[in-house]
Formats: sequence, structure tokens, C-alpha cells
Amino acid sequence: MCIFCEIIAGKVPVHKVYEDSIVLAFLDIAQVTKGHTLVIPKEHSLHMLTCEDDIMLEVMRVAKRVGQNILEMTDAKGLNVLSNVHEIAGQTVPHFHVHLIPRYDENDAINIEFKESQPQNLKALAELLYLDCLY
Ligand code: 5GP
Ligand code: ZN
Repeated sequence: MCIFCEIIAGKVPVHKVYEDSIVLAFLDIAQVTKGHTLVIPKEHSLHMLTCEDDIMLEVMRVAKRVGQNILEMTDAKGLNVLSNVHEIAGQTVPHFHVHLIPRYDENDAINIEFKESQPQNLKALAELLYLDCLY
């Protein structure tokens, strides 16, 4: 059983900020910034790309509402919403979760920076990645 399934089963205590029959939101044990929250489905799935659509949409619906509440109830001026998929992208817990990381100022203990690396052939890439239909 993964650590988040143990949390859902009540075997590991957490500080909850929202719960319903499908989704749980709770404070991350390692607060990157004050109010750092995780939103997870109660049904185990490895990451966002393997989560069933209806459940994923519920997770995002809760993430939106909890995110709004964080901005309303704290001094945060912004929020990073992110979900890591696989270890290479920083995933350490193999259970789909959305991070809500409130942003206060330039001293926040998080730095997300997009740097351009090699120029790409965008035409070829778009042709490679183009989806004719969703399913
Ligand atoms: P990841 O690196 O997989 O995107 O994020 C996993 C997150 O889960 C980390 O930020 C980590 O601090 C948090 N986490 C791991 N174990 C526990 C736990 O037992 N309780 C809580 N509240 N958070 C946890
Ligand atoms: Zn799990």
C-alpha cells in the first residue's frame, strides 16, 4: 500500500483541508511555502496520466476550490499548481497528487524557471504530436 493510500485508510495522520467520497486535500508534510497542499484521489492511481477521467476532473475541481480558498485566507499573491509524472519529473510518491504551492514573495523556497535549451523544429514536432481526436 502506498503512503497516500495509508493516509486515506486513516493509518497515517494528516491535516485535512477538504474531503469527500472521491478526493482528499491535506497539508504537505514538507511545507515548501505556508499552506502547501496536496489534492489526491482516494482511488489509487500512479499519476495524472493513468487516473480515470472522471476522477481526475474531480481532483482538479477540488484543487481549484482549495486554491481559491488559500488565496482568500492567506497573504499569498499567487499559486503554483503542479503534478509530477514519474521520477524524472520529481515524483516521489507513486499516487496521483496535485501540489498547490502558495506564492508570497521572491524569498519563497521554490524557483520555477523556464530556460530555452536547443531550438526545435516546431512544424515537425507539432506533426508528431498532433492528436486527430482525443480517444
Ligand atoms: P512528489 O515529489 O511526489 O511530487 O510529492 C510528494 C509530496 O508528498 C512531497 O511534497 C512530500 O513532502 C509529501 N509527503 C510525502 N509523505 C507524506 C506524508 O506522510 N504526509 C504528508 N502530509 N505529506 C507527505
Ligand atoms: Zn496509493
